[in-house]
Amino acid sequence: MHLKLTVLGIGSASPQVGKNPSAFLVSFNNEHVLVDCGEGTQHRLLEKSIKISRLKTICISHLHGDHYFGLIGLLSSMNLSGRTEPMTLIGPEQLLDILNIQFLAANTSLGFELNFIKTDNSKSELLLEHKAFTIETIPLIHRVPCTGFKITEKAGRRHLIPEKLPKSFPVAFINLLKDGKDVTDPLTQEVFKSLEYTKRGEPAKVFSYCSDTAYNPVIVPIIEGSDLVYHEATFTKELEDRAAKTQHSTAEQAAQIAKDAKVKKMILGHLSSRYKTTDAHLEEAEKVSSNVEMAVQGAVYQI
Ligand SMILES: [Zn+2]
Repeated sequence: MHLKLTVLGIGSASPQVGKNPSAFLVSFNNEHVLVDCGEGTQHRLLEKSIKISRLKTICISHLHGDHYFGLIGLLSSMNLSGRTEPMTLIGPEQLLDILNIQFLAANTSLGFELNFIKTDNSKSELLLEHKAFTIETIPLIHRVPCTGFKITEKAGRRHLIPEKLPKSFPVAFINLLKDGKDVTDPLTQEVFKSLEYTKRGEPAKVFSYCSDTAYNPVIVPIIEGSDLVYHEATFTKELEDRAAKTQHSTAEQAAQIAKDAKVKKMILGHLSSRYKTTDAHLEEAEKVSSNVEMAVQGAVYQI
């Protein structure tokens, strides 16, 4: 199994041509997690031929509009299409109240269950354990409560070493060995140790999403070693004061996080609309870390 990231939106608060506000789709084969849902996200999903019926988990980092104004539309479309399958929604406490008031005003009752899990921006915690992945929060510093998300693929099953296994080994027990369990042959009482007859599966892949945040080195140990990290870089360092005041990061600060956390790759987005190109951000980040590049709207990263 592999982790795939589809970049659906890298914009910031002011609308920009060709850039959707924040939205990212993390996929493990047919399991998808939507992270943030800016305006227009359902259209970007349509363009990528992602069936919204396949979405079972949505994470919202914070309640600034450019990160969730697309959610009411997306959930309404799911309802219109007759969805009955439950949806897990992760986000700040007030999110559920906001959705409920909108559905109430529209006299809409959802035909599917919303399993809401509230985030707490004061600590990192494991919020969801799925058979294919886990979701932990990353506490961020912003003007309203905000968390990022660390999404970790479950490690692949162990691989059998067939030449080691005797031909008489009961086929029905092979999956137990692959799951790391030792097997006792019921006839002969012979014990087969998983470690002896299997080798390690694929290592787990990790994507960390660091939404709006002031420079926050507290997150370094949490995202350490991630295969792919998205980090905001609203400003360049000339506007470091403004970044501190609005609780955003500069490209240099984001790259410092990439370097300190030894991440394999970091992509930067959420640039202020005052910047017409990404050149200054990239130049600034590259001076600190060679593992940083600019996020591209619509790009797909396979890790
Ligand atoms: Zn924000």
